[in-house]
Amino acid sequence: MRRVTPDTIAVVDLAVCDRCGLCLPLCPPEAIHLELNVLTVDRAGCTGCEKCVGPCPVGALAMVAYA
Ligand code: SF4
Ligand code: SF4
Repeated sequence: MRRVTPDTIAVVDLAVCDRCGLCLPLCPPEAIHLELNVLTVDRAGCTGCEKCVGPCPVGALAMVAYA
């Protein structure tokens, strides 16, 4: 169970993501997964730290309001 709900979480645009895998090890809670060539961000796991967004070479990750 999450202790603190973040204001924002990361989302991926699968039309832009090239599945390079660079962002996976950058996520402290390991909330980004690449399975069957599809990248997903675990809503329940993302802490909103934004560490994945800047390094993505194609700008496929963005922060959105947690809702
Ligand atoms: S770094 Fe960007 S392009 Fe690479 S897998 Fe992550 S979201 Fe996709
Ligand atoms: S914002 Fe932080 S916790 Fe959320 S997916 Fe990106 S690196 Fe992981």
